[in-house]
Amino acid sequence: MSVSAGVPSTRRTLPVATLASVRAQTAVLLREHRRALLTVVGLHACAAVAGLAAPYVVGRLVDEVTGGTAYATVDRLALWLAGAILVQTVLGWAAGRASFRLGERVFAQLREQFMTRVMALPLSTVERAGTGDLVSRTTNDVEALSHVVRFGIPSIFVAVVTLAITVGAAVATGWLVALPVVVGVPIMWLSTRRYLRYAPDGYLRERATYAVMNGVVTETVDGARTVDALGLATRRRQRMDEAIRASFDAEIYTLKLRLIWFPQVEFAYLLPVAATLVWGGWLVSQGHASVGAVTTVALYVHQLANPLDELLMWLDEIQVGATSLARVIGIADVPPDREATGETPTDAHLVVDDVSYAYRAGRDVLHGVSLDLAPGERLAIVGPSGAGKSTLGRLMAGIDGPRTGRIDVGGVRLVDLDLDRLRGEVALVTQEHHVFVGTLADNLLLARPGAGREDLVDALAAVDAREWALGLPDGLDTTVGSGGHALTTAQSQQLALARLVLADPHTLVLDEATSLLDPRAARHLERSLAAVVTGRTVVAIAHRLHTAHDADRVAVVDGGQVTEIGSHDELIAARGAYAALWRSWRDE
Ligand code: ADP
Repeated sequence: MSVSAGVPSTRRTLPVATLASVRAQTAVLLREHRRALLTVVGLHACAAVAGLAAPYVVGRLVDEVTGGTAYATVDRLALWLAGAILVQTVLGWAAGRASFRLGERVFAQLREQFMTRVMALPLSTVERAGTGDLVSRTTNDVEALSHVVRFGIPSIFVAVVTLAITVGAAVATGWLVALPVVVGVPIMWLSTRRYLRYAPDGYLRERATYAVMNGVVTETVDGARTVDALGLATRRRQRMDEAIRASFDAEIYTLKLRLIWFPQVEFAYLLPVAATLVWGGWLVSQGHASVGAVTTVALYVHQLANPLDELLMWLDEIQVGATSLARVIGIADVPPDREATGETPTDAHLVVDDVSYAYRAGRDVLHGVSLDLAPGERLAIVGPSGAGKSTLGRLMAGIDGPRTGRIDVGGVRLVDLDLDRLRGEVALVTQEHHVFVGTLADNLLLARPGAGREDLVDALAAVDAREWALGLPDGLDTTVGSGGHALTTAQSQQLALARLVLADPHTLVLDEATSLLDPRAARHLERSLAAVVTGRTVVAIAHRLHTAHDADRVAVVDGGQVTEIGSHDELIAARGAYAALWRSWRDE
């Protein structure tokens, strides 16, 4: 399943991988780590073989003692027993270590792949899906997956290898004696199948009731004053009681499932041991087997319980892990929104040609917009709210691609440039600025990784930020961002402007839409901004008209179309929409 372009919905969730894709990816992972996997399986097999020695030696001991033997033989066998246990312990330790290393490596790889894919997600997709889905995949799903990959996969391999070798050894000791091994299988098969048929729904329901319960508690606590003021306490308590009852019922249901399943499985482990003893006793009486062989096989059969237990325990968890894996690798199914062609723009000439754009299929918010920006020109875009100004700005900055038509810089489509290249051509400047956790220098280097110390200081100086920046406790090496040295809003904005100076795009799209400017800082910042825009082509999305007055040309956008374009004076003289807007703004 993948998100197809043009699905008519504003809030799509991110795609989830199909079962087939999960299987294929798992197979690729296992194949990639084939050698480590073979080491793990080999070591566990050796440990399991060493584990077979104890029952074998005990069986021999029984036969020797039954037949009448010397103390020396008993001592020798006891020594063998001790040796086997020692070897098994050491091998078990080495095998465990190898499995955990493998688990960690696979998990690290999955996590890195996931991060790479997340970083490559088109911005528009993340915005559309909302961050909640992405955050829950990055935290809950990756955590659930980590548990299964780190502990589940190694444990399952160990259990399977141990089971196979132990059954093999029992059969080798005497296939006739080992026949009762199979009597537990149908019981286990049927009871587990039944359990697995009802359990997933039961657990899902249980988790859903927890979510409701949490919701009711948080809501009540958050709205405590309202609850108090409106006298809702009794009603809220009733809601809580209902939520607790639902949760209790759901827990009782899964408890019942376990209460039925566990004893059946337990019985399925023990029945073969008892059956082996009875059947073995009969074989001994008929002279078909020795007491020692029966002892050995009975001990082997008994030893099967542990790995079986382990295997069944992971059955549930594997399902949870597979769901999480589907969500984690599903991220890769998001189609890329740009494919760099490697073409190089010939100049800084930005041309918008007959562009339309829709957030939802069939609902164009831009209709055939064309604009030709002379390099170095200042164009103001004005128009009523909702006209499509910000949308046009995003398209002109190459954040989204147009539905039809093209936006070129120097003869190359913006969406054909790779992101690094694009940022050196056009940048969108909004009033939302993020300070990343790291040093001040790190924050600046994001814009131009190769920049030297002097470049950084020059960029800060250009936006009038040199003084405070060098005055920080560790200068450029001061840690800023959440948890570090706190920057004021104005300082964060200057930092963002300094990044622009470093990225050095020839065209800037300034969107004032989300103005968070502190009026006291505004004048100071306007100077910083003026320094940045000098010598560049500027598209200013003017939500306030005074910006338009200073521009070389003004474009009026209304209903997703450019309705008027010209210099301020020309448009005033034309007495159209702009002239009317201007007059009403002046008269306010
Ligand atoms: P302006 O900047 O002129 O106020 P916008 O470009 O923000 O206008 O919006 C143009 C139209 O597109 C509006 O009808 C708005 O509701 C719609 N729109 C804007 N952003 C989105 C979005 N993320 N999803 C769906 N519709 C949107």
